[in-house]
Amino acid sequence: MNMFSDHPHRRYNPLVGEWVLVSPHRSKRPWQGQVEDAVVPDMLAHDPECYLCARNTRINGEINPDYTGTFVFENDFAALTEDAPKERFEDGLLLAEGESGICRVICFSPRHDLTLARMPVADIAKVVDAWVAQYEELGIHPDISHVQIFENRGAMMGCSNPIPTARSGRAAACRTSRQRKPRTSAPIMKARAPVAAGLSGAGTGAWRTHSV
Ligand SMILES: [Zn+2]
Repeated sequence: MNMFSDHPHRRYNPLVGEWVLVSPHRSKRPWQGQVEDAVVPDMLAHDPECYLCARNTRINGEINPDYTGTFVFENDFAALTEDAPKERFEDGLLLAEGESGICRVICFSPRHDLTLARMPVADIAKVVDAWVAQYEELGIHPDISHVQIFENRGAMMGCSNPIPTARSGRAAACRTSRQRKPRTSAPIMKARAPVAAGLSGAGTGAWRTHSV
């Protein structure tokens, strides 16, 4: 089994029915990737300059309500919009289609200085309730086939708010079916299970160091 920790090999992904190239030996390189300094959080409970804080004016002129728990609104710079043209373009290798959807922002708390990890458990439960509500509300839409809830934090991740709040969860929904649906049937999954268990039991470190 050391072979799988020290040498290049490929592993089968039963969820998508594809093989993934794994190169665990590359983790022995001297350079282990760029390391960023820890960001010192802003300690203001309410930042008058923050477009997500309660009672502040957003870029589109709307004024946030004086919310006390979670706050959900349509993303002012949504990646997907409901009125996107349904055009299709095809020319040789280039194939493109209009894609529509809905993008929302979920503020987790009116506290500007908190992250999800530092919130009381009862308030975290309310955030989870908001995720569930958004998932159900967007998912019931007949044109929406997939709802994804995620959180971006920090400028490096493309979160435009430079202050490290943990409130910018976004619920995005689009008509696109998941392109990589699980293609492996339950019987095959069952048959593969012993193999997967053996690999994970033998070298979890190799799982962390794999590269595609
Ligand atoms: Zn804020």
